[in-house]
Amino acid sequence: MGRIVPLVLATRNQHKARELQSFLSDLDFKVITLDDIPQHIVLEETGTTFYENALQKARIVYDATKLPSLADDSGLEVFFLDGRPGVFSARYAGVNATDEENNMKLLNELRGVPSEQRRAQFRSVLALVAKGIEQTTEGICLGMVAELPRGTNGFGYDPLFIPDGYSCTYAELTAEEKNRISHRSKSFAKMREILLKYRDTLEASLQW
Ligand code: IMP
Repeated sequence: MGRIVPLVLATRNQHKARELQSFLSDLDFKVITLDDIPQHIVLEETGTTFYENALQKARIVYDATKLPSLADDSGLEVFFLDGRPGVFSARYAGVNATDEENNMKLLNELRGVPSEQRRAQFRSVLALVAKGIEQTTEGICLGMVAELPRGTNGFGYDPLFIPDGYSCTYAELTAEEKNRISHRSKSFAKMREILLKYRDTLEASLQW
């Protein structure tokens, strides 16, 4: 292996950075965030798909830093609701909505809908943008929306999502249990393979 290759993750969330770093611990990449770089970056999410948003964010960071850049976009897609909340997952009940408000809105939209029509999936898309490289990966976790929130772990729609093969919600699983099956860990694992494949190219693209 050569030098450590920096990867700028398009977030200020240190938790996300640590999660990604743990997938890359043996690969000589160093995950940094927008808080670790001098440029002031304003991220935009104006796309209609997770792919567009992830690529948009990774391109913004790459254009500003010229360093290998990664961005993720994720959310919950409910089939009965034609894929909503989808890219609007974080702001389903309004721009500054809390997780509880988003969960309540979803439950209201599904009021009276029987369990067989409550199928849903979490989707996570990761985009890598670097010199001459644009790659995306996707991870999906299938399941259903519960009738009532259950559990206190996690965030977002975790208390409402029952993954296939389980009778409990994401929020009733430990972080380790959720990581084993989650949409995000699947897209991260695929991105790990891509980073492994392009590692030398990424290192050569750096101007030291
Ligand atoms: P973003 O990808 O950080 O923009 O987050 C999108 C939104 O999707 C979050 O604010 C949550 O509402 C939802 N979301 C994404 N992943 C998860 C998850 O693992 N559990 C619960 N909610 C999630």
